[in-house]
Amino acid sequence: MKYSPHDARPGTVYLIGAGPGDPGLLTLRGAHLLGMADVVVYDNLVAIEILEMAPPQAERIYAGKQRGDHSVPQDELNLLLVRLARQNRCVIRLKGGDPYIFGRGGEEAQTLVAHGIPFEVVPGITAASGVAAYAGIPLTHRDHAHAVTFVTGHLQDGTMDLDWPALARSGQTVVIYMGLTGINVLCEKLIEHGLPAHWPAAIVQQGTRSSQRTVTGTLATLPERARAAGLKAPTLIIVGRVAGLQPDLAWFPESA
Ligand code: SAH
Repeated sequence: MKYSPHDARPGTVYLIGAGPGDPGLLTLRGAHLLGMADVVVYDNLVAIEILEMAPPQAERIYAGKQRGDHSVPQDELNLLLVRLARQNRCVIRLKGGDPYIFGRGGEEAQTLVAHGIPFEVVPGITAASGVAAYAGIPLTHRDHAHAVTFVTGHLQDGTMDLDWPALARSGQTVVIYMGLTGINVLCEKLIEHGLPAHWPAAIVQQGTRSSQRTVTGTLATLPERARAAGLKAPTLIIVGRVAGLQPDLAWFPESA
């Protein structure tokens, strides 16, 4: 292989995106740096096969982040990275998807800057692009969507703090991360703000993994279908006419 990236430096933190699940979606640069790790701080969405690319002797620290499991609070985590870097080790901070998309990578980078720790960011394939590709849903399409918006559907006090009039415009695709628990609210609000009840929508569980499952429907039917299918996080919801292309464009074999 001709590609020769520069090596990891001790005392530096590398914020690396591991992609959405399929280990083949890690970047070459990410894999190269990971192979030089002294310590890897990783999230729960990182594929085990990717973690195994770190040297056997590298220390592995689980940073958690499942719903309701606050294994390491974010402030402590930020400072942990500072401490590890000050031990003059090559610190790999491995995150699912892309570090700068709903990954708190920005907060970690700010803490590193505040403490004068050198760092680099290696982008990853975010769930939206990876999962949509494997599920058979082009996020934009000249006939259907000229824009795409990524939002988090995290429920706060039983609702979502989102700009509903903007999200309910046609001609775009809306991708909702962390939206499963709030799927009813999400679909109701989009209809309430003007999208038709028959507007196409899809939900994908464990996209890009062999356990991937896709459920399609409309704003009216998706919540019930997702429940009937027993879907569990991580899931990604995709709303827009492009979701209607899924039956024709699906190519990745799903188990069920
Ligand atoms: N930084 C990550 C997102 C972290 S937030 C990225 O860029 O992808 C975690 C959320 O991402 C999950 O709750 C889920 O909504 C979504 N997600 C991540 N991986 C996924 C996958 N393989 N399949 C479906 N959704 C996924």
